[in-house]
Amino acid sequence: MKPKKKGINTICTHVGEVHDEQFKGAVSPLYMSSSYAYKDVAVKRYPRYFNTPNQEALGKKIAALEHKEAGMLFGSGMAAVSACLLAFLHQGDHVVVQHDIYGGTYNFIVEEFEKYGISYDFTNGLTKADFESKIQKNTKVIYVETPSNPLMRIIDLEMIHGLAKKHNLVSMIDNTFASPVNQTPHDFGMDIIIHSATKYMGGHSDICAGAVAASEAHMEVLWNFAKNTGGSLSDYTVWLLERSMKTMAIRVKAQNKNAKKMAKWLAAHTLIKKVYYPGLKNHPNHALAKKQMKGFTGMLSFELLPKMDSSAFLKHLKLIKPSMSLAGVESTMLSPAETSHALLTPEARAAQGISDGLIRFSVGIEETKDLQQDITQALEAVAKQQQKILA
Ligand SMILES: *Cc1c(COP(=O)(O)O)cnc(C)c1O
Repeated sequence: MKPKKKGINTICTHVGEVHDEQFKGAVSPLYMSSSYAYKDVAVKRYPRYFNTPNQEALGKKIAALEHKEAGMLFGSGMAAVSACLLAFLHQGDHVVVQHDIYGGTYNFIVEEFEKYGISYDFTNGLTKADFESKIQKNTKVIYVETPSNPLMRIIDLEMIHGLAKKHNLVSMIDNTFASPVNQTPHDFGMDIIIHSATKYMGGHSDICAGAVAASEAHMEVLWNFAKNTGGSLSDYTVWLLERSMKTMAIRVKAQNKNAKKMAKWLAAHTLIKKVYYPGLKNHPNHALAKKQMKGFTGMLSFELLPKMDSSAFLKHLKLIKPSMSLAGVESTMLSPAETSHALLTPEARAAQGISDGLIRFSVGIEETKDLQQDITQALEAVAKQQQKILA
């Protein structure tokens, strides 16, 4: 592995540019061709082969950001997740999966794996024993996501790498919540790094894409599978994503800073019961987060006091948008009980630590004083309403 040479903002801005030899334009030209000359070339270029000029160039940026040898773009985060799992798992194989992973990944595993004859186990918790106790003779892959959604739990990546090495497993991580700005899992030995580029890489809530970084050898296995299922990203979106990624590090760092400020402010608020943010000293995994992360992300969650109606709170927000997705430059909030975890019973949610008053907060780049003002007016409106009901 080559040592990291360039700073993150330089990688974001410059690595993997397509140079405009013809007109010397400042940005990468966009090659929309779906047909390329096949004579005298080693690799035939074709959009579904993930090797058009723009795809190849942006793959280099993804690889550089994740300290890996190779990178590849996909049509969505789930196209990347599903291709990685199915490329490395065969009939009769088994995979150990962290229990609180992204809902789409959970659905993909429980709805699709049976017909391929692939078995799986979700862990009961996040300790080494929780993972190791699920490993079987035919286990081939160990799959994690940290920080986890929505409680921002941190999984020890060195521990996962240790288990993968001991039991000869391919280790995979969904690094979407952290982004490569805050966490580079390769440095802790993780093999396959997956992103929903719809989130921090895109950053403006207007792109749906996925990305994977890995060694050349692992990427060859992935490519051999992915060219057959065809989940590539359109070159126009590749080009837009390249533009977004130039500002990724400055966006994410601003979001880290805002989230930390908001977490502290919320923790001190009399109508807020609890705040979950790995950057707070009282977060149970704060020390681990400090060890393996460069920043604590723009994601946090908090619980309103039980007497406060969380859906009324979301309705009263004026600046912050109640919204399903995350990681855009604009702040958004959602209630996991009403959205991502709505299919679970209140008891099943409680068992996972998700109360009905929990709110997930994707902190944007707005001024924190404006965010605080919006939250304050919404909390006051709900408190007033509830007093009326109680009176
Ligand atoms: C959104 C998300 C995905 C899925 O990505 P899509 O681009 O929506 O397919 C996967 N993992 C995590 C952690 C996500 O937040």
